[in-house]
Amino acid sequence: MKIELSEEAQHWQAVAREYADDYLQAHEVEAELNEGELPAEISKRNKYRALELGFTEIDVPKEHGGRELSMECQAAIWEQLGRTTNALSWCFPEPQEWMFDACTEQQLEQYVLPMMRGEKKDCYAITESGPGSDVSGLDATAVKDGNDYVLNGEKWYVTSANLADFFWFQAHIPDEDDDALFLVDQGTAGIEITATPKFSHSYAAHHPTYLFTDVRVSAAQRVGRPGDGMAYTHSWFRHERLMIGARSCGAAARLIEDAMEFANNRIVDGLPLSEKQLIQVMLADSATELYASRLMTFAAARACDQGEDPKALHSRCSMVKLYVSEMANRVADRAVQIFGGRGYMRENVAERFFRELRVDRIWEGTSEIQRLIIARSLLKRGLDKM
Ligand SMILES: Cc1cc2nc3c(=O)[nH]c(=O)nc-3n(C[C@H](O)[C@H](O)[C@H](O)COP(=O)(O)OP(=O)(O)OC[C@H]3O[C@@H](n4cnc5c(N)ncnc54)[C@H](O)[C@@H]3O)c2cc1C
Repeated sequence: MKIELSEEAQHWQAVAREYADDYLQAHEVEAELNEGELPAEISKRNKYRALELGFTEIDVPKEHGGRELSMECQAAIWEQLGRTTNALSWCFPEPQEWMFDACTEQQLEQYVLPMMRGEKKDCYAITESGPGSDVSGLDATAVKDGNDYVLNGEKWYVTSANLADFFWFQAHIPDEDDDALFLVDQGTAGIEITATPKFSHSYAAHHPTYLFTDVRVSAAQRVGRPGDGMAYTHSWFRHERLMIGARSCGAAARLIEDAMEFANNRIVDGLPLSEKQLIQVMLADSATELYASRLMTFAAARACDQGEDPKALHSRCSMVKLYVSEMANRVADRAVQIFGGRGYMRENVAERFFRELRVDRIWEGTSEIQRLIIARSLLKRGLDKM
């Protein structure tokens, strides 16, 4: 499906497509049947190829040795990586542009630039059992004590923590009545895993629960300046919501292609399944919704590149996350239906995506929370300024 993309974005699209098809896709079933794990040599090969291709550098400013790609190019890459299941594309760290604004030189040297070189991996500890969707009311605290902060709190669903070297830990600072992120090394005294729940998908990246009890970090580990509050967490949300849109487009495209191929080859009543109009309806609705999704995802990416006001951008990224993640779930449901009983087998791409895409309607803010953000923006700014 063609939509207008810059030449540079088309280049990155082709690079990422080849990587997704040649390096990742072939290992999906193996990963699915092995709790998401691949043999160490395959994981290593995939990571090093991603490093060679420059995927860890795409959102890093040029002055720090990065490629500083436009969001349009980044969305083109993540769209293609979204074509694979089992989170196999999460095999490289992802330093993001906001980190270079938020972090001190020392923090960049110690944490962010090693991510770009593939030497360190991060994870985000924000959600709690009480304040889940409402991240403004965190119970975790950071209390200043001399040159240190003492962190306390329980964090749920800390994705990739089993593979990560450090946390971005969000806490409330009672003295300032404000929130901030802290960089905390794995293994710091007082950090404990209290649960590693199983989830619907089969990923090598787990989502454990962590208890932080009197974890002492130096004041130099605090990210940003007093008063920054949740600003950087919101930057991260915007970025992720847009890229969830991109990945969901890739997933939907793969599902449509694979379901169509099956429908062309499956003979029912002496004819290919694809000649049945009820099947064609499902394919046509899926392709139409994908077209709309791709247009809005790349339009939002270009709005980022053009420096649109962050508040307007925030609701635009929410619209992308809401519409495109829900679109991909509908497409996965139809794909399972087209495959019939085969679509219920774990070796089938539709079955895996049917489970995996469900979480895109939950994490980085549920569909309901995206609707609240969009409605607030609409009521405050009006349609013309959205
Ligand atoms: C697999 C997985 C990985 C995750 N990874 C991370 C991670 O790495 N780091 C991290 O910090 N978090 C992570 N999360 C947490 C995720 O962001 C939260 O689950 C999500 O924001 C929802 O919060 P909650 O689960 O507490 O749901 P709740 O807030 O309890 O919401 C329950 C339901 O109520 C609805 N709801 C809540 N408030 C309102 C409202 N005001 N109006 C209408 N409806 C409302 C929600 O939409 C939802 O349907 C992860 C979650 C999952 C499942």
